[in-house]
Amino acid sequence: MDLYAEEIISHYEHPHNKGRMDNASVSLHRDNPTCGDEMTIYLSVDKEGRISDVKFEGNGCAISMASASMMTDHVKGKSLGEIESMGVKDLIELIGIDPGPARLKCATLSLRAIKEATFVYEHKPVDAPTKSL
Ligand code: ZN
Repeated sequence: MDLYAEEIISHYEHPHNKGRMDNASVSLHRDNPTCGDEMTIYLSVDKEGRISDVKFEGNGCAISMASASMMTDHVKGKSLGEIESMGVKDLIELIGIDPGPARLKCATLSLRAIKEATFVYEHKPVDAPTKSL
């Protein structure tokens, strides 16, 4: 097993930031019906428009859950603008593997949910790249 796969398994078995958040600034549920992955993202946004805390709840395959664990670590402390400009390339760099077309929707589910949550929080329409994730 290579190093990246080990990291995916480790995040899957011991996910970071997992659990619900009461009084979140925004929460949002998204699923990936082709695989059966589903998750709810909770964001807490501070006065400066930064993510002060983030949690997720859900079930799914190793890639979807590991990417949610890594992605939630990654966005903590980031501004809403920084999150809105993130794309698939950033995600692949973060998780360290290219999931390939079959697993791409698993890997991007957390990114999509987090990005959509920021748009909802700001009362802005979801952008086209996010819709296609
Ligand atoms: Zn999946």
